[in-house]
Amino acid sequence: MTIAELRQKFIEGTYTPIDALKRVRLVIDEKDSDIHAYLRTYDDAEAEAIYATKRYEAEGSAAPPLLGMPFAIKDNILIKGKPATAGSKMLENYVATYDATVIERLKEAGAIFVGATNMDEFAMGSSTESSAFGPTKNPLDSTRVPGGSSGGSAAALAMGACVAALGTDTGGSVRQPASFCGVVGFKPTYGAVSRNGLIAMGSSLDQAGIFAHTVADTETIFNVIKGQDPFDATTVREDTYPEVPRKEMYRIGVPRDFLREGMDEDVCKVFDANIEKIIAAGHEVVDISLPMMERGLAAYYIVMPAEVSSNLARYDGVRYGLHIDGQNILEDYLKTRAEGFGTEVKRRILLGTYVLSAGYYDAYYGKAEQVRQMMRDELAGVFQNVDLIMTPTSPVPAFTLGEKSDPLSMYLADIYTVPVNLAGVPAISIPGGTVDRDGATLPVGVQFIAPHAGDARLFDFGTKVYDA
Ligand code: GLN
Repeated sequence: MTIAELRQKFIEGTYTPIDALKRVRLVIDEKDSDIHAYLRTYDDAEAEAIYATKRYEAEGSAAPPLLGMPFAIKDNILIKGKPATAGSKMLENYVATYDATVIERLKEAGAIFVGATNMDEFAMGSSTESSAFGPTKNPLDSTRVPGGSSGGSAAALAMGACVAALGTDTGGSVRQPASFCGVVGFKPTYGAVSRNGLIAMGSSLDQAGIFAHTVADTETIFNVIKGQDPFDATTVREDTYPEVPRKEMYRIGVPRDFLREGMDEDVCKVFDANIEKIIAAGHEVVDISLPMMERGLAAYYIVMPAEVSSNLARYDGVRYGLHIDGQNILEDYLKTRAEGFGTEVKRRILLGTYVLSAGYYDAYYGKAEQVRQMMRDELAGVFQNVDLIMTPTSPVPAFTLGEKSDPLSMYLADIYTVPVNLAGVPAISIPGGTVDRDGATLPVGVQFIAPHAGDARLFDFGTKVYDA
């Protein structure tokens, strides 16, 4: 059920938060020992559900918007008093001392936290295979990955083990798993949602993102978690960007040239069918050209590791989590970091340290930032003529576990999602159809991109064309 449907029933009293939590727990008991969407579940959810049920009896439709809704939370978002591992051995025994701002706001709106979901280590990956605690499987075909890095949240929602979920998106980690698992995944405008209490990966790219069954549910959650926050100076004021109006008829741009590269034929067919559907719904679809988009991956895999190497310097064996004793302080660092981090994390710290080395700044990081600015300018130009941009979310449907063991082939799968984070604009992945693979029916997502602060435009278009 969607949040909208559940809320109606909760208000009427025909179904209660206690029932919803029971149902979610049943699914977890039945399926999650195999799927492994959750790293842990929380017993205090039960008391919350009882309390929420009583509040609906007393308050009815005046109850807060997410009261009694069972949420799954990616394990890099802090909940006070609960562990937050970011999928790493480094933080295996770390317990959060405060609530992330998004958690505080969800709590005020009455949400219930079912548990913490599995993820690629420190959100680095596109498959959830780099988790230190073992991979998550795709609930629609357990030989395949759920996508990543927020694969646990996407899988939990797709199998009915929550009603909505939070993830984080640095280069596609909400949109791509949403595409692989057949749910809606949304990355807000950079700065629309506070990053306070999110375990940082690439600070200029990271945003908390939302998983839900419908675009309307996504909007409900966004309206709860968004907004300026004194604890995150990068959150934007309502009037930071020019207003992006809603429209009756939207003009959608498709960057045809960019789409040819590496796109699976069946994904292509699903994409074309969606263009037809959009035209049939009365909107206009036009070709656009985005030559800088192709540079996105190259720029991302310089900017992101640079920020990763800096952000992860704090895991020194002294201040947080794991500590391994050496003969002296330097050996403490070396042993702790060698033991605590996995291969993908180490690869990115090495890359980032290299591109930031004295003498290389101009050749790598400086250049990547220039490319980034050019991508922003190019997008701003295109948005003079179109309201939204449409691409597939991923060039391929869910791949099999172990299939992309070569890191470069994994990075290539991010081609359509990373430009969005580099530019800081909002984007949503909506289920657009399915493809058949080796006897399995796999979902395929379509991505819509809006200009800065165009989050509401994505919801407006999405509810009109896809929720109906
Ligand atoms: N798959 C991308 C990466 O590995 C994006 C990750 C993310 O968005 N956290 O960096």
